[in-house]
Amino acid sequence: MAGSKTQTGSAKLDHIVAEARRNREQREQGYREQALKLYPWICGRCSREFTRANLHELTVHHRDHNHDNNPADGSNWELLCLYCHDNEHARYLDKVTGGESKAGDGSGPDVTHNPFAHLKGLLGGKQGADDD
Ligand SMILES: [Zn+2]
Ligand SMILES: [Zn+2]
Repeated sequence: MAGSKTQTGSAKLDHIVAEARRNREQREQGYREQALKLYPWICGRCSREFTRANLHELTVHHRDHNHDNNPADGSNWELLCLYCHDNEHARYLDKVTGGESKAGDGSGPDVTHNPFAHLKGLLGGKQGADDD
C-alpha cells in the first residue's frame, strides 16, 4: 500500500509546528534521559533503588529549582523518588514563603497570674464561713 505521496502546504506547516513542540518536549525529556544515564537509579534522599519497571517513580529534581538550568555535566540534577521530590519542593516553598506559620508558643505566659487572688484574700474571712 505504499506509493501515493499527498503532501500539501498545510502539511508542511503542521510539520513545523509539530517539530517545534517536539523540540520542547525533547528538551524536557532530554535532561531526564541524560540524568538517568549520568546517575545510578537511586533516590538521592531515601536511597530507594529503581528498575526499569518503576522508573517512572524516579524523577529529576533541579537543585536550584530552575528547570531551564540544565548543564550537561548534570550538576543541577538530582534523582529523587516522587515522595522525596514532593518533600523537597514543600521545604523549598516553606523557605520562599518565609515561615509565616509560627503557630504554637507566645500565647500568654502570664496564665498562672490570677487577678482574683488578691480579692479572694480580702473576702476570705466573711464568705468562707457560708460556703462549704
Ligand atoms: Zn526518596
Ligand atoms: Zn524538583
